[in-house]
Amino acid sequence: MTVAPTLPGAVTVRAPAKVNLELRVGPRRPDGYHDLATVFQAVSLHDEISVTRWDEWQVVPTGTYAALIPTDGDNLAVRAAKLVAEQWDVDEKLSIRIDKDIPVAGGMAGGSADAAAALLACDQLWGLGLMRDELAELAATLGSDVPFPLTGGNAMGSGRGDQLAPVLARGTFHWVFAISDVGLSTPAVYAECDRLRDLTGSATDMPEPQVSPELMGALRSGDPVALGAALHNDLEPAAFSLRPDLKELRDAGVEFGALGGIVSGSGPTVAFLTESHEASLDLSVSLAAADLCRDLRRAKGPVHGAHVVGAPRT
Ligand code: ATP
Repeated sequence: MTVAPTLPGAVTVRAPAKVNLELRVGPRRPDGYHDLATVFQAVSLHDEISVTRWDEWQVVPTGTYAALIPTDGDNLAVRAAKLVAEQWDVDEKLSIRIDKDIPVAGGMAGGSADAAAALLACDQLWGLGLMRDELAELAATLGSDVPFPLTGGNAMGSGRGDQLAPVLARGTFHWVFAISDVGLSTPAVYAECDRLRDLTGSATDMPEPQVSPELMGALRSGDPVALGAALHNDLEPAAFSLRPDLKELRDAGVEFGALGGIVSGSGPTVAFLTESHEASLDLSVSLAAADLCRDLRRAKGPVHGAHVVGAPRT
């Protein structure tokens, strides 16, 4: 493909982190995957991806967690950009600047957000005019958590979590995220979940995973107290088994007044829902004083999915 001279020289896209409000995990399938029923909420921790034409592929990490991401072809943003180039026959290489503000390996789908952002940025840079469903299809080939950050808001995920359906919701929710020093590997947490289920025999005759009516009702009414009570994560026992300190952290946050506390996805980030912005400030202060985690971040949700922004964050 030849590039028209009117196309932009650089594009910056911002994409959000997610928290799983509910994560129900079905039994291990013969292919090793698990069917999921989950509800995602996009929250206001963002990565920014800027793409520029370059004479070789390169990743330039910046921001809070810059030191923790791969800078070679394993980076999910590079994989996403190369996939677009290959599918649409674009003979160009890119410099990809990643301003990393989403915790890495924290169960907040930061790598997936970067991949989603890179898909949209390449579409804009190369003037491909892709439809949202074409982008979502590409996203699903990169990973089951990649379609959601394109959409943002609140969404229900089924299959491997990649088949999204909109969720009726109102209101804004206020979160505190307690960030760990060390990440947890998603495959290791699923393996521990299977091991614990085998030990207890609970995997046999397990029903199809389904999102609870209580959680959907809480979102529909925008009621944070009801949502706090309905938060649920089937991976939590596995995350607690691998990292008992996370249970201590969750229990402390709830004791300090959170409406609910839950391991985010496969962890180790623990997400606390609070009543208001002020309550999230108070909870952050109490958790910081207890010294049970490396870092605390406040955020609100839901927020929009991946979108083009004017200029890179400075
Ligand atoms: P999920 O919630 O989807 O399970 P996560 O939030 O636990 O994901 P990520 O931050 O996406 O985890 O990182 C998982 C691994 O992916 C990291 O250990 C890292 O080496 C690799 N990775 C590749 N590209 C990126 C990227 N752009 N940002 C972060 N991690 C990346």
